[in-house]
Amino acid sequence: MVGERVVDALVIGGGPAGSTTAYEVAMGGFKVLMIEKRSEIGIPVRCGEGISKEILSILNLKKDPSWICSEMDGARLISPCGKVMVIGPEIAGPETGFVIRREIFDRMLAERAAAAGADLWVNAEATSFDRVEGGAVVNCIHDGKEVAIKAKVVVAADGFESQVARWGGLNTVLAERDIDTCIQYEMMGVDVDEKYVEFYMGKRYAPGGYIWSFPKGENISNVGIGMNATAIKRGGDPKRYLDDFIRNNDRFSKGIITEINAGAVSVGLPIEKTVADRMLVVGDAARMIDPLTGGGVFTACISGQEAGRTIVKALEEGDTSAEGLSGYERAWRDQVENQLVRNYLAKEKLLDLDDEVLDKVIEGLSEYDLKEVSTQELLKGIVKKHPELMNDLTGLI
Ligand SMILES: Cc1cc2nc3c(=O)[nH]c(=O)nc-3n(C[C@H](O)[C@H](O)[C@H](O)COP(=O)(O)OP(=O)(O)OC[C@H]3O[C@@H](n4cnc5c(N)ncnc54)[C@H](O)[C@@H]3O)c2cc1C
Repeated sequence: MVGERVVDALVIGGGPAGSTTAYEVAMGGFKVLMIEKRSEIGIPVRCGEGISKEILSILNLKKDPSWICSEMDGARLISPCGKVMVIGPEIAGPETGFVIRREIFDRMLAERAAAAGADLWVNAEATSFDRVEGGAVVNCIHDGKEVAIKAKVVVAADGFESQVARWGGLNTVLAERDIDTCIQYEMMGVDVDEKYVEFYMGKRYAPGGYIWSFPKGENISNVGIGMNATAIKRGGDPKRYLDDFIRNNDRFSKGIITEINAGAVSVGLPIEKTVADRMLVVGDAARMIDPLTGGGVFTACISGQEAGRTIVKALEEGDTSAEGLSGYERAWRDQVENQLVRNYLAKEKLLDLDDEVLDKVIEGLSEYDLKEVSTQELLKGIVKKHPELMNDLTGLI
């Protein structure tokens, strides 16, 4: 027999986007259920675990050592020939603030939602979505049993492999150029500066992507690679490039791998519409990842927060049609869209940039204090030194 459940809002996916949505809806006093297909929230981890320090003020969280491993002073960009550019976190982007324990962070967000009154089912996978009078019905397999969940609004928080938004009629198709394949090792016994994340740029290290080192503590770091799908010539290329890098770098070659994780991230623009009748799409499911860095936890949380707040308002007004939910589209775009678009354009430029050009750009940029100069001044200064870079620089900076 098919079980039944009726709620105000159903959140599908228990990642950061889902948990922040569920938290806001519960805080608004409405009945919300979050379902997660895995048997445990946050595991397995598929993440470099870098996140902006702003996450504390955005979500009103305390600085908690149980999920914050280390705090960065900035980032180092390393060019193909080894030129180093040091940048502060305000410019380095959202992945350079803290390096966290993602499994504990995700669990903390889910527990925060549950403590606010949200119901949570693990081992519960959504299998279909249908609109009905006044809401939608989602079928789900929970602990091996079929359950039909009726909700006034459904949130697609089901991550990179999202199907829910598509079931709801929204276009989430990704071009090959907009997908990066990643593999990462957590390594101990490596020689890293605990205060700086590092990005190794250029085709030499990672065609169509970069290698990162995100330090989690003394001599421990997440060392990973992201490669654009169009740059992968043979299966296993990302692992080969990462292994080569580690083997040839004295600071990492003596390290021991304690964990391997792999996955894909979208590096395109967010989907065109994130709202439909009875449905909102949040986080990776809406392709809200920063296309330049592959970081998506911060934007997942922002979108979840805005989705939750919009749902509360829509439920109070009794209108969960696309029109009633439309405030969400504006709210998340106002906060993060500009940066995502800017970084998308920069990523497009970087994909085709030759290593020699990248060397000159990083060398040129490293001569400036990026906090002090405007983009125009930067462009002028570098082009004066390297006039041949004019075309490559326009659009990149
Ligand atoms: C190798 C790698 C490194 C990364 N490094 C970073 C980094 O350093 N910093 C950063 O900010 N971001 C990083 N990211 C991206 C980051 O992990 C994502 O942006 C983030 O997890 C998005 O959160 P989310 O809640 O939208 O999706 P997810 O965290 O993916 O959560 C979606 C959840 O939905 C569940 N689900 C899916 N389908 C269903 C269903 N039908 N029914 C029920 N549940 C379902 C999944 O099991 C999953 O738990 C990295 C990604 C990869 C792959």
